[in-house]
Amino acid sequence: MDLLKEKIVTEGKVLSDSVLKVDAFLNHQVDPVLMQEIGKEFANRFRDKKITKILTLESSGIAPATMAGLELGVPVIFARKRQSLTLTDNLLTAEVYSFTKQTTSKVSVSHDFIKEGDNLLVIDDFLANGQAALGLIDIAEQAKADVAGIGIVIEKGFQEGGQALRDKGIKVESLAIIDSLENNQVAFKEEALR
Ligand code: 5GP
Repeated sequence: MDLLKEKIVTEGKVLSDSVLKVDAFLNHQVDPVLMQEIGKEFANRFRDKKITKILTLESSGIAPATMAGLELGVPVIFARKRQSLTLTDNLLTAEVYSFTKQTTSKVSVSHDFIKEGDNLLVIDDFLANGQAALGLIDIAEQAKADVAGIGIVIEKGFQEGGQALRDKGIKVESLAIIDSLENNQVAFKEEALR
């Protein structure tokens, strides 16, 4: 997705050989026009999948997931990372190791919002080692819901998550795939023309 790649190049900051900061348009400040385009792109890539709901993770998955939900006309659920006084009953939970925070935390979704028979699209901002996506898949499995695919805004192709998920036979669609962050440079993976 050219608009996204342009944003990454002009506004992203390479923090190390493995971490990209995109606080200017995705992780802190949000660019609504870009999010709208991202939502349309996810919708185009999963329109034939009969998605019933989108599942994401707070907080940075919410903006792209909501725009995709708007395009597909389905509700969006975000797994919560923090304990909440109001989210106590009927919980589906999974352990997720955070690549950026290097800690394990519990993420939770109320069973009220994901049911057997749901056909979920999982969306997240980044794909690194795949832990966040696997946690959301675990939650879907607990609810006996299906995962029709995974939509990722930025995949770091040099980390193992994308391969691991595709090896499971899951359709993974990433809007930008980064091949390398070495030498302070973002290098994208060449993509087949769509
Ligand atoms: P994974 O679970 O695939 O190992 O890592 C994905 C999660 O870690 C995403 O939800 C994202 O929040 C965070 N993450 C991983 N790598 C990066 C990165 O390079 N930059 C940013 N901003 N977040 C990342």
